[in-house]
Amino acid sequence: MSLVASTEPAPAHTRAGVDPSRDLLDEIYVAGRWVTGAGETIESIDPASGRRFATLRAATPDDVDVAVTTGLAAAHASGWTAMLPHERAAVLHRIGNAVEFHADRIAALQTLDTGKTLSETKALAASAANTFRYMAAALETADDTVTTPRGPWLTMSTHQPMGVVGAITPWNSPIASDAQKLAPALAAGNAVISKPPVWAPWVTLLLARLCEESGLPNGLLSVLPGPGRTVGEALVRHPQVAKISFTGGTTTGRHLAHVAADKLMPITLELGGKSPTMVFDDADVERALQGVLFGIFSSSGQSCIAGSRIFVQRSIFNDFTDELVRRAKQLRLGPGTDPRTDVAPMITRAHRDSVAAMVDAAVADGAHIRCGGEIPADPELVDGSYYPPTILTGVTNADAISREEIFGPVGVVIPFDDDADVIAQANDTVYGLACGIWTRDYRRALRVGDAVDAGTVWVNTYKQFSISTPFTGLRDSGLGTEKGRDAIRQYSDQKSIYLDRSDAPMQWGTPR
Ligand code: NAD
Repeated sequence: MSLVASTEPAPAHTRAGVDPSRDLLDEIYVAGRWVTGAGETIESIDPASGRRFATLRAATPDDVDVAVTTGLAAAHASGWTAMLPHERAAVLHRIGNAVEFHADRIAALQTLDTGKTLSETKALAASAANTFRYMAAALETADDTVTTPRGPWLTMSTHQPMGVVGAITPWNSPIASDAQKLAPALAAGNAVISKPPVWAPWVTLLLARLCEESGLPNGLLSVLPGPGRTVGEALVRHPQVAKISFTGGTTTGRHLAHVAADKLMPITLELGGKSPTMVFDDADVERALQGVLFGIFSSSGQSCIAGSRIFVQRSIFNDFTDELVRRAKQLRLGPGTDPRTDVAPMITRAHRDSVAAMVDAAVADGAHIRCGGEIPADPELVDGSYYPPTILTGVTNADAISREEIFGPVGVVIPFDDDADVIAQANDTVYGLACGIWTRDYRRALRVGDAVDAGTVWVNTYKQFSISTPFTGLRDSGLGTEKGRDAIRQYSDQKSIYLDRSDAPMQWGTPR
């Protein structure tokens, strides 16, 4: 059956009430072939119920080797590398349309695998569709350059595919982070090997089916789920892999940067964060309250850009914090499939327990729990990996709970006096991913935004994204940039061409 978008009415299973079990085939995708993996068994657990819903045999380092050599050959044999930009763009458009058409199916699968709310996984699927279409448009309109002549030449700067690119992704927003890497890397004419995380491999495998059905040449794409220490390492170390695009933790990213340095291989790193969000006393309080809550508690705080350090100007600190706490207490914990759920379960129990341990350690150090802070005992939640929205006060920016990335629904609220004070506190971190500023004074917002070391600054909003706007992590939050028109160039080698216009031989050496 074709999975490609069509004008026909959608089959029942692709619409409301999607059953994700049909997409749980125990097969990985090695250079255009669906095979049972020979690696360890991945057990997939529904975070909402603790129930095992599928097993998947992982890939092995040998699969990486097959994927690289076959992918490289396929890129050339299929004509993908030589294809004209608008021809490759047509395939990317079809993939975007297929992702959009199957958005409900993708969302249902991802909610089962990650626990996220359906509203969020639907938004991630929509974002992935848009990413493929945007990169198609960017590819069709990307100009090579004729440079200003500095001699008797016509000089040009052109771009060509790098060969095989590795895309390594985390579990928190699979389909969107897949698209963010696959779309520009394929657009640039490369073969791509995706290494999804063991905690959430399924939606990337479904994406591969949609790519295949959309006419992506066979062999060009591989999806190799498996552990980072085996499959991921093999991918990064493979001598024929020309570039790695990685999203994940800072410790892993730093290690991969070392491996890449040894190979002299370019690597893009999108890493962790501990982002400040600051509420000034002239802020629109209603908007700030909603924005701060969304910034830290959406995605159950499992977001690199979570606004986890909440700075509130001292004159409004008590009133604002009291109201923030009152609203946080009203947020509803529940399964991602329930439309009434605000905060869904965390990815695994082990991760939930590590979040709980960090909160307990902060309390032992003197932090006050204003809400949350306890694993729920509710019979409806007890089997899942739930943790409630948690707000802590009585901490400083120097405390461990304010410095370490928690990756859970935990925010600390810290007072500040003035612009200089909040800038100093915001920058007193190893990270530099994002920043939120809530004020009615746009001059102040621009001044403070300039002074804060963050790749993204949101003013009177938070956690908003557009594929046309580049995304960068500063300091320990990353290296390089994703998204935007130039994303395709991150997956291309630049080449300069000199065409001489003169008839005379070069003037060099002793005349003969
Ligand atoms: P992680 O670093 O543990 O794993 C990320 C990916 O890297 C996984 O696919 C994993 O299997 C792989 N990996 C692990 N070790 C490897 C190795 N030695 N060689 C090759 N691959 C390896 O991170 P995680 O726990 O999956 O994700 C959470 C982290 O990701 C958080 O720190 C979060 O802030 C970060 N993140 C960053 C962004 C961003 O855009 N800046 C976005 C989402 C998540």
